[in-house]
Amino acid sequence: MAKQVYMFDEGHKDMKNQLGGKGANLAEMTQIGLPVPYGFTITTDACHSYYQDGKLVNTALKDEIIQALHQLEAATNKKLGDKETPLFVSVRSGSVVSMPGMMDTVLNLGMNDLTVEAQKKLTGNGRFAYDSYRRFIQMFSNVVLGIDLYFFENRLDQLKEAKGYISDPEMTEEDWIELILSYKDLVVKHTNQPFPQDPIEQLMFAIHAVFDSWNNQRAIIYRQLNRIPDSYGTAVNIQSMVFGNTGNDSGTGVAFTRNPSTGENLLYGEFLLNAQGEDVVAGIRTPQPIAQLEQILPDVYQQFVNASLLLEKHYRDMQDIEFTVEQGKLYILQTRNGKRTAASAVRIAVEMAEAGIISKEEALLSVEAEQLNQLLHRRIDNKADMIILTKGLPASPGAATGKVVFNSDEAQAYHDKGEKVILVRPETTPDDIQGIIAAEAVVTSRGGMTSHAAVVARGMGKPCICGVESLKIDTQSKRFVVRETTVNHLDIITIDGDTGSIIVGEVPMIEPKNSSHFHQLLAWADQEKGIDVRANADNKEDSLKALELGAEGIGLCRTEHMFMQADRQKVVKEMILSSSTQERKICLAQLLPIQQGDFEEIFEVMQDLPVTIRLLDPPLHEFLPDKEELLIEVTAMRITEPDSTLLKEKELLLKKVQELSEMNPMLGHRGCRLGLIHPEIYAMQAEAIFLAAITMHQKGIHVKPEIMIPLVGHSNELKIMRKLVIDTAEAVLAKASINMEYTIGTMIEIPRAALTAEQIAAEADFFSFGTNDLTQTTFGYSRDDAEGKFLQTYLEQNILTENPFRVLDKEGVGQLVEIGVNKGRSVKPELKTGICGEHGGEASSIAFCLHAGLDYVSCSPFRVPLARLAAAQATIRRQAIT
Ligand code: ADP
Ligand code: MG
Ligand code: MG
Repeated sequence: MAKQVYMFDEGHKDMKNQLGGKGANLAEMTQIGLPVPYGFTITTDACHSYYQDGKLVNTALKDEIIQALHQLEAATNKKLGDKETPLFVSVRSGSVVSMPGMMDTVLNLGMNDLTVEAQKKLTGNGRFAYDSYRRFIQMFSNVVLGIDLYFFENRLDQLKEAKGYISDPEMTEEDWIELILSYKDLVVKHTNQPFPQDPIEQLMFAIHAVFDSWNNQRAIIYRQLNRIPDSYGTAVNIQSMVFGNTGNDSGTGVAFTRNPSTGENLLYGEFLLNAQGEDVVAGIRTPQPIAQLEQILPDVYQQFVNASLLLEKHYRDMQDIEFTVEQGKLYILQTRNGKRTAASAVRIAVEMAEAGIISKEEALLSVEAEQLNQLLHRRIDNKADMIILTKGLPASPGAATGKVVFNSDEAQAYHDKGEKVILVRPETTPDDIQGIIAAEAVVTSRGGMTSHAAVVARGMGKPCICGVESLKIDTQSKRFVVRETTVNHLDIITIDGDTGSIIVGEVPMIEPKNSSHFHQLLAWADQEKGIDVRANADNKEDSLKALELGAEGIGLCRTEHMFMQADRQKVVKEMILSSSTQERKICLAQLLPIQQGDFEEIFEVMQDLPVTIRLLDPPLHEFLPDKEELLIEVTAMRITEPDSTLLKEKELLLKKVQELSEMNPMLGHRGCRLGLIHPEIYAMQAEAIFLAAITMHQKGIHVKPEIMIPLVGHSNELKIMRKLVIDTAEAVLAKASINMEYTIGTMIEIPRAALTAEQIAAEADFFSFGTNDLTQTTFGYSRDDAEGKFLQTYLEQNILTENPFRVLDKEGVGQLVEIGVNKGRSVKPELKTGICGEHGGEASSIAFCLHAGLDYVSCSPFRVPLARLAAAQATIRRQAIT
């Protein structure tokens, strides 16, 4: 039979699975010589047996417990229940991972009518002895016997009132004795049994209660919320008591070794004089800041400083420590790695590495990559007073204040007037792109974390809240209603994309500032990482942001956003509506200098860094008005103004829209299919790129354009498009008498392209895996439909463990990426490979890309720091394995 009970000097910190986090750390601290009251831990395996045996502590375990108790008694020179030198213990639960809200601790166990007298005699302090006894009855009755604390508090209040006292310290020894009688009477009333006097019985009862607490309602819910396996079980710690309530040279407290919100290297915490552990949490009295301990008990303070330095060095991390002082002597009762904000995590990592406590690699691994996101966005000042109107899904972080508008045209119009606006829509579509760009933030009443609004806003680093179902939007009369509150057009609201809260009016904000620590940590990350990080950027602003946040180039410059900008929408529309190629070419000629300007702006910012430009990808109807809306408009006009020329125009437009409309646009006439049918469009884009590059060369900026053809599924498609780009390039370059290196590559986003990558590679200088479309085509899901209709259920029922549009599906889609890279490199070893799309900014997907041997990942500018850190972490972890 395996050992089920460990004395504190038999365990160590790596035994969390058996001893629970608390038990393993109590053992570790005992081993390194810290003043920890002695005790023992019952393992999580014993908890499993308890449940297997039908909630019974079997005799083998009982024997082990009694034996451990004897060892504890021998070590402390005290005996549980002894009427001269009684031992008192605490019974503390402790799971593998910390689970607040599972079981409360029982302190002072072993107290009864005899031992309380002994304690009085030993300490010469009857008031203290009886206070400890009444605390025990109260805790035990609540935690173990399940009697509501309210009844006890009520009796205490009644007695104090009868005596004319205001606070507990006025209670005398006799008063506590009187209260104990009243408490005992309460216990009989509720359980029909007298309060248990036998200390062994008390102990066994308490152990049962800890095991039972593993399956109480709040513990089960907490586990579900935090994805903690039910199979862990809880350990039980039995520890000899130290008393913080013996007088003013005693007390209790909790402290972090560094500030958990700022990371400052200063003890941060609180203590209470003359109190027991639970009092600090209970909030009965207001604790004092830890710094004041230095004045009150300088000697104890120094002991604590030393202990905290030792613990930090030993655990190589910031610690969260519980302590108690008994008559001027310090005891450590718990330590664990402290929870902290992102800002604090970064500062602590850097400062601990600089102080030589941890290595740079450990510093990099200690910050959760996803957390960095918090640091790049403006946040609501939590100290501010505010009334939260309602909540939705926190789809994109950051906070914003602005006037409410209900459509994209208005967003644009008010933005142009210099107003800050928040776009509120039932949902957004690609038509809303201008509105989203113009708005400070976006709110939608429908859609999830990966709806159009969410994806676009995240890409732009704008706050966004989705799926606010309580929001009843009336776009017609321009207002929304949440229960009784109505918010009108142009009213001011504030949104918090970190929590999903919508607040009426303005709220104070904290601006993001990237500390020197942040830059230092990322500089270390850049030294480590074995994969480049680029950004997706379509314009000058995004490019500037990308550079500022450390991108090493642009991995995806989408040209469709350029077509959607207001100043060119008219020509773009004419181009699409052209009835002949000739007509279309005239429009394209007008677009050419505009496109050239777009590229020049981006090249100018990126200088010599690589920029991958993707030729037009979406189907043409995306640039035209919505079919249904247009139909309604035309129908109405046929009645109101049947002879107007405007109607003629609209009818023509409608006809074209109907012609272009597709059954399934995602799989329709888009990407290179567009370039093959209308080569003049791609030719114009290629010309614009080379003209822009020539301008740069003349300025001494040596751009090497990377031109990317989207949606290739067959090598012949790429062959023709490649020739088109080369012919165009050569003509333009010859005319300017300039030589220039350039590359032509393709997106790999159709399974067939990955599977025939040898053939495709023959025509390509680089591959960029478009994992969004590749996920759609591999799963056969259209993203919007999947996320809108069934994906949530799939996740809830564990059919899929992650949303494959957020976290790369390594098994399926990832396999295609690997096939693509390997087959491609088999014929072209120097083939450059990368991934663009949201996955390029997600930590586990980045690790996958590193292992698959890709040269770079590309993600939205705001996720670049996260990607740099995640790339470094994946590289360090890989080195650790090999
Ligand atoms: P939690 O996990 O809820 O923090 P703990 O088991 O850590 O519960 O205990 C609650 C409080 O009781 C803490 O303040 C702790 O320091 C104190 N405490 C626990 N055991 C002892 C003991 N043997 N002597 C003195 N105080 C104790
Ligand atoms: Mg604790
Ligand atoms: Mg695509």
